[in-house]
Amino acid sequence: MSENPRVVLLGAPGAGKGTQGRRLADAFDVDHVATGDIFRANADMETEYGTPQEYMERGELVPDEVVNEIVREYLSDLDGWILDGYPRNLAQAEYLADLGGVDVVVHLDVAREELIDRLTGRRECSECGETYHVDFNPPAEAGVCDDCGGDLVQRDDDAPETVETRLEEYHEQTEPVVHFYRDDAPEVDFVAVDGEQSLDDVFADVRAAVERRVEDS
Ligand code: ADP
Ligand code: ADP
Ligand code: ZN
Repeated sequence: MSENPRVVLLGAPGAGKGTQGRRLADAFDVDHVATGDIFRANADMETEYGTPQEYMERGELVPDEVVNEIVREYLSDLDGWILDGYPRNLAQAEYLADLGGVDVVVHLDVAREELIDRLTGRRECSECGETYHVDFNPPAEAGVCDDCGGDLVQRDDDAPETVETRLEEYHEQTEPVVHFYRDDAPEVDFVAVDGEQSLDDVFADVRAAVERRVEDS
């Protein structure tokens, strides 16, 4: 492996992928590639399958053909990266393997009740995308981003009904990906992290997992 790690962050909606992904990218000086962020920034993009918005508002996955092509483009010039939100099913995992594979897969493990509390209290900066939580990770001033002063907003798909669909999609489509990397991908370092710890403790575990691989190479 080069010094720049190729990392996949897996975890259910609300597990902390975005929060940890941004920190990790800073720490290792690689790009944070979050497919959800890309779709939110390109929600109206016309494709032969419709727009990403139509899928996101239902809490369903955007078709593989659309996602895979976007990921291919984003990763093409990069040496290392932190992938957040991809792969989300086995077909996407196979596609990523064809693109050259991954070094470390970190699974952030969080129980369902906690996921629901996290998603319903999540707020996102409309300017820079930084994530907060009204109780667990509040900004200094309510509704205002600490980093850039932007307005904090709630994502439409964090409404309770849509959360339910997203958790269902995760269970059906993405859990098999967790099992695949854990059991059937010997070339990958698979590390399960207790995602219910404090933000800093989760980060310490995630960072250590990536550090080990970088040092061994
Ligand atoms: P994901 O990208 O996996 O959907 P986020 O990183 O957006 O998850 O986190 C979901 C919500 O939970 C956010 O409001 C975030 O501030 C909060 N959160 C993230 N990590 C923790 C943690 N370790 N403890 C408590 N709340 C957390
Ligand atoms: P979460 O907080 O649920 O992990 P994301 O920001 O990663 O949310 O994703 C938001 C939405 O974007 C998903 O519900 C889905 O509609 C779409 N999306 C993101 N990544 C993918 C992917 N790899 N495959 C298909 N759809 C995706
Ligand atoms: Zn901001």
